[in-house]
Order: sequence, then structure tokens, then C-alpha cells
Amino acid sequence: MKHLCLNCEKGDMVRTKKDSEIEYRGHRAIVRALDGWHCPECGEVEFAGKEGVRYAEALEKLRLKIDAEESAELARIRKKLKLSQRRAAAIAGGGVNAFSRYENGKARPVAAVVNLFRLLEKHPELLDEIAA
Ligand SMILES: [Zn+2]
Repeated sequence: MKHLCLNCEKGDMVRTKKDSEIEYRGHRAIVRALDGWHCPECGEVEFAGKEGVRYAEALEKLRLKIDAEESAELARIRKKLKLSQRRAAAIAGGGVNAFSRYENGKARPVAAVVNLFRLLEKHPELLDEIAA
């Protein structure tokens, strides 16, 4: 009997253990030997037993790791540029406390903020143009 994939409605799902890739903000990780029904056509997975929990936990672990790395990176770049948190927030927008909230992990900056500070680290002379 066919176990039709409900995602693509083409694949005949196969029960197996297979590595599955997870992605968060452009960073990837692998969940090893995920037990479930895998679609050979589109890659959809129907988790067996508590594998959905293991998958969600792996995603959460990746999310926390990447968020912590980004928080630390923003703090490092801000200090390197000799900006106060208040001044950095004025540049990034999002309110006077935005940068302290980014740095202590209470809020996530949008990608544009992270990208802006990465650019400013490479081209600190551009800070004068923003400040002017
Ligand atoms: Zn499919």
C-alpha cells in the first residue's frame, strides 16, 4: 500500500532513519538518523514516535547558539566602534534600549541591523556619514 506524501502528493513515503538538515538564519545543522516516513520526492518527513521532539529540540539548540553568537558579535563590534549602547540604538533604530536588549538576548535584531554593523566593522569610516 502506498503511503502518499501529503506535502507534494507525489512521493511514496519510505519508513527509514535518515539525516535531516535544519536551518536557522542561514546557519545549518544536521539531525542524525531521524526515524520516520521520508518522502523521496520532496524530502518531507513524518516523524515516528517522539522524533518530532528530538527535531524541535535540535532546532531550539541551534537557535539559541546562533542567537547567542549574534548577540556577542553585536556587542563586540559596538565596542570596537567605540559606541555606547544608546548611540548604537540611535543608529540601528528600535528605541533607546534596543541595543542592550539585543546584546543580552532579550530581543532579536532584524537581519538589516546585523548586516549594518558587520559593514561598519569593515568600513568604520562610514560611521562619520551616519553621525553627520
Ligand atoms: Zn513529498
